[in-house]
Amino acid sequence: TKPAAGARTETKATCCYCGVGCGVIVESDGQQVTGVRGDPDHPANFGRLCTKGSTLHLTASPVLQQQVRALHPEMRFRRDARRERASWESTLDYLARHVDETVRRHGPDSIGFYISGQLLTEDYYVFNKLAKGLIGTNNIDTNSRLCMSSAVAGYKQTLGADAPPPCYEDIEQAQLLFIVGSNTAYAHPILYRRIEEARRKNPALKMIVADPRRTDTARDADLFLPILPGTDVALFNGMLHICLWEDLVDAEYIDSHTEGFAELKSIVRDYTPKFVAETCGIREEDLVTAARWFGQSKAALSLYCQGLNQSASGTAKNAALINLHLATHQIGKPGAGPFSLTGQPNAMGGREVGGMANLLSAHRDLANPEHRAEVARLWGIDEVPAKPGKTAVEMFEAVRTGEIKIIWIACTNPAQSMPEQALIREALRHAELVIVQEAYKTTATADYADVLLPATTWSEKEGTVTNSERRITRFKPVLPKPGEARHDWEMVIDFARRLEVRMGRGRDGTRSLFPYEGVEQIWNEHRESTRGRDLDITGLTYQILEQQGPQQWPFPEGATEGSKRLYEDGVFPTASGRARFVPTVYQPVVEKADARFPFGLTTGRLRDQWHGMSRTGTVAQLFSHASEPAVLMSRQDMERRMMADGDLVHVTSRRGSQILPALASEDIRAGQAFIGMHWGEEYVSGRGNDGNGSHGVNALTVAAYCPSSKQPELKHAAVKILKAELP
Ligand code: SF4
Repeated sequence: TKPAAGARTETKATCCYCGVGCGVIVESDGQQVTGVRGDPDHPANFGRLCTKGSTLHLTASPVLQQQVRALHPEMRFRRDARRERASWESTLDYLARHVDETVRRHGPDSIGFYISGQLLTEDYYVFNKLAKGLIGTNNIDTNSRLCMSSAVAGYKQTLGADAPPPCYEDIEQAQLLFIVGSNTAYAHPILYRRIEEARRKNPALKMIVADPRRTDTARDADLFLPILPGTDVALFNGMLHICLWEDLVDAEYIDSHTEGFAELKSIVRDYTPKFVAETCGIREEDLVTAARWFGQSKAALSLYCQGLNQSASGTAKNAALINLHLATHQIGKPGAGPFSLTGQPNAMGGREVGGMANLLSAHRDLANPEHRAEVARLWGIDEVPAKPGKTAVEMFEAVRTGEIKIIWIACTNPAQSMPEQALIREALRHAELVIVQEAYKTTATADYADVLLPATTWSEKEGTVTNSERRITRFKPVLPKPGEARHDWEMVIDFARRLEVRMGRGRDGTRSLFPYEGVEQIWNEHRESTRGRDLDITGLTYQILEQQGPQQWPFPEGATEGSKRLYEDGVFPTASGRARFVPTVYQPVVEKADARFPFGLTTGRLRDQWHGMSRTGTVAQLFSHASEPAVLMSRQDMERRMMADGDLVHVTSRRGSQILPALASEDIRAGQAFIGMHWGEEYVSGRGNDGNGSHGVNALTVAAYCPSSKQPELKHAAVKILKAELP
């Protein structure tokens, strides 16, 4: 797109899609975005952009803004009425009154906040303070619960802190890449370009991919392990068993820097190659090769994502992989380490400010009384409530049962993305008040809003995000706020100050908890909260981010640059300073295939779409890779059922049903099926068990979750697939 002559500006920002966190240069004429290109100076992408990132400007066209954007507040006072346009004043006054009365009648835990890894760190910080600091409830959780919480729990259990040790540069320094549960080529495309380039430059760099599907990533592997869904713990324990047997573990490192190995050793003794090969559905010789390559490698880097996380044993999967790294000393050195890739652009920032039901600011734990007292001191409040907050699935269940009366949803679309949609939609129908803070009025969740608060979005916001390698980027707005939209942090503090007045804060000489005039003040408060913590960023000012560009944490006061890699000294942020082996035991998927539901359905990303398609669904060219939803099945299964490519089929689980075209795929085993996660009710017909609407693929998924991370098993459900009878 050619910018208007003479009025062109160029502003550095980041792509708002995945956790690679690519830098973009946004070209603008001051009124509209006229183009984007990769930022050659950004250390995440060095100028490259994928199909999604390179079409970002098309999502900000003024015509589109009018069609899909929420541009002014709307309210309704009866569920069966239409929402009407309202002023900001009356909307925020109404919300403050309603929340205050509800808290007085039913207590602070009658309010719930469900926010998003798409928010900026500053937005997240004030939301968290509003819930935990002002209202006094820990009922604040985020859609990152659906993507990253198993990685958080895995890191904390083993290494003592939620901190990915490696960095992107390690891809170029590795001798072995072990990609598990991640179709990196689709989900983190620019990182994958780095992988391709590293392999071109270093032919000795090997790549193992473990995945139930032969994805584009798997096709490039030197060794592909087509494991059965959910068998990752068995695979990692089996690899460790072989490493032990073949003396490929690093006894000295284990002795000096870890604890708990004896217990783990007694468990992995049972994971013989024969047992593991049978459990995982792979060849024994491939398992042995994988273990040898891993144990013998000078530097093994694991890259993993939702295939590990979105599981009822997600934490165990993460911990078992980290066990393997610790035992073989594949951590804390160039080219090595367990590297969890974040799905969303700022899932990391949300974790840093503690924007989840079980976390507090700066990687503190809600369950720790000292941490609660520290945060109370920082915020100038009497106490942070000790009662655990509801995590994502629990929160909507509490809405459904009436325990939570008011649900405030920001920048996310649970009426499409949460598992077991029939229950989620029932919850939204039964809530006393649904507040939706959104840039897009077109989401399925916006349909349930009693109050719609229009939010700014990419190219309009100012603040910071953190990508997968702990790198923080600051950016400024390119465009003015459209219509009456406000920034997310602004809405929170405008509401919070009204609520403070109602709650009497200020009368006794206390000052507002939200004294900010801009995002920099919020950032500075967040920075201060990290003092002495593992992610200390007390030295990282906006000015440094502006002058020196994106920086990795930790970046304590006095530092001149961020920390590339963690744990190079072998000291871990645990009480003993040692990393901990976790005794991980393989558990099968929650819902095994059986005679009635004989297929194992797995879900995943398509190359050119993002989440529920609120943004990517507005760009025609992003449909050229996959133009419609489909269920992929093995040719063998289709032939047995006399199905041809394009035949419409019913895909049915215990929770709902979809009608989709079936497509044969050479990349799927018999007995398995795959549906892309992005397509919502506009694209798929069918219904949930509530009999209402289509609900997208999450009509089928199961809400069972990992007991440690509370992350749901979005990656696996048992289904039946029957040819649809045409009328
Ligand atoms: Fe955006 Fe991710 Fe693509 Fe980079 S790889 S351009 S962050 S979607």
